[in-house]
Amino acid sequence: MSIPPSDSAPLFCYRHPDRETMLRCARCERPICAECAVLTPTGYRCKECVRGQQKAFETALWHDYPVALFLAMGLSLGGSFIAGALGFFTIFIAPIVGVFISEAVRWAVGKRRSQALYRLAAVGAAVGALPLLGFHLIGVIAALSGGGGLGGLWGLLWMGLYAFLVTSTTFYRLSGIQIR
Ligand SMILES: [Zn+2]
Ligand SMILES: [Zn+2]
Repeated sequence: MSIPPSDSAPLFCYRHPDRETMLRCARCERPICAECAVLTPTGYRCKECVRGQQKAFETALWHDYPVALFLAMGLSLGGSFIAGALGFFTIFIAPIVGVFISEAVRWAVGKRRSQALYRLAAVGAAVGALPLLGFHLIGVIAALSGGGGLGGLWGLLWMGLYAFLVTSTTFYRLSGIQIR
């Protein structure tokens, strides 16, 4: 082990006084045990400091939520028609649509933020992809029950891929800016 010897008294977790530890919260400097420590980009923090910081980050107002939801829904629906017409190229189009949605949402809510807001935008993106996905699904089921081939299956596959990619891109692109 390469931990330098310390001449200070052993530390004990401030929440678990029976646990000896070598960690300190990088913000409030209280000693914390492994269970209480949360690894952040700026070092270990106690759970209280992490929670306090998250609150400070949440600046979204109540009317930002419907804006994020419906904007993401509408743009995702529009994008699904483009993707639906392009087949295989959905793989490239869907992430671009996701980036576009996240930028549009960020702009529409005046760059205010909260985790719930990002989740709601992702839900909107998913819901926006559903009508065309459902349409393709019905097409495949109709073809199958009518004794037809599986030709419509590709369209369904691309739409499913679109729904997944657009949702994940929207969420990770929006929430990514919060982790520093
Ligand atoms: Zn702390
Ligand atoms: Zn602890």
